[in-house]
Amino acid sequence: MALTEFSLIQQFFVQQKPKNTSTALGIGDDCALLSVPVGYQLAITADTMVEGVHFFAGADPEQLGHKLLAVNLSDLASMGAKPLAVTLALTLPSVDADWLRCFSKGFLNLAEQYGVDLIGGDTTSGPLTLTVQAMGVVPNHKALLRSGAKVGDLIYMTGALGDAGLGLKINLGYQCPQPDAVLQHFNTPNPQIAAGLALIDVASACIDISDGLAADLGHILECSQVGACLEWEALPLSALVQRYIAETGDWAMPLTAGDDYQLCFTVSPDKVAQLKGEYTPIGIIEATPGLRLRKSGTVQAFVSKGYEHFSK
Ligand code: ADP
Ligand code: MG
Repeated sequence: MALTEFSLIQQFFVQQKPKNTSTALGIGDDCALLSVPVGYQLAITADTMVEGVHFFAGADPEQLGHKLLAVNLSDLASMGAKPLAVTLALTLPSVDADWLRCFSKGFLNLAEQYGVDLIGGDTTSGPLTLTVQAMGVVPNHKALLRSGAKVGDLIYMTGALGDAGLGLKINLGYQCPQPDAVLQHFNTPNPQIAAGLALIDVASACIDISDGLAADLGHILECSQVGACLEWEALPLSALVQRYIAETGDWAMPLTAGDDYQLCFTVSPDKVAQLKGEYTPIGIIEATPGLRLRKSGTVQAFVSKGYEHFSK
């Protein structure tokens, strides 16, 4: 029997019990209800993934479910928000129960890991398009914005740079030994929620690296009306990314490739002592607008626009 929209939602997306106390009403009515605790603001974001644009046709549905949620939770992480709940809008070319089972498994496993409730959504037919709206809370006026960087602030990042970009290269045919670790970064990134929460009251500005470090740091620079100089030698590159650069000469890849979903943030010198965690200092905020890179002793301008959907 063909699955109706209602039974599809029941079968694959209704969770047993809400995981957090803010969820007053979950899936099943015209709206869900979310209680925002006193003293907090609601942080809201949405991201869409379109087949053929954001992922390859035939991509593993469990990994897609994970990545779709992860990229949205990453936006909450970059604001220093604690994730509470998400809605899921699915546009499907057909109802494929196996695909849905795997997709919802990847999605709900990650939701479980971060205590996030799936509280509603929409299901329609059409070209495969996946949208999540994520909601989290952040203490009043404490959200980490793009606009707070000041001249003299140090620039840091979580994790390593370029592994997801290398994962994409491998998917497109680049050969490298033991590719599993970098493919994991590309297929199933982990949102840096704990780091975002720890950076409240410490970072002056923060962004998640979705379109490439140069483009995303560029957003901080524009919003904060400052410039920056990055130290090439300080960039945290995995052994495989270093090997890729040595082999191809493509040293700009880690700066321009997207999908890392690490956080890039700035900290004023007097707050550096408050930084608790494994973060890598990669540069400094300067007064002269634009992004520069110091590499082998020389400073050069570095221009990258990141991926733009309507630029063709
Ligand atoms: P309406 O027509 O009132 O918008 P729907 O029939 O679209 O309601 O959805 C019924 C319920 O199922 C609603 O609570 C909606 O939020 C939820 N829902 C629909 N699609 C999804 C989905 N893909 N994931 C999670 N919840 C969904
Ligand atoms: Mg509807």
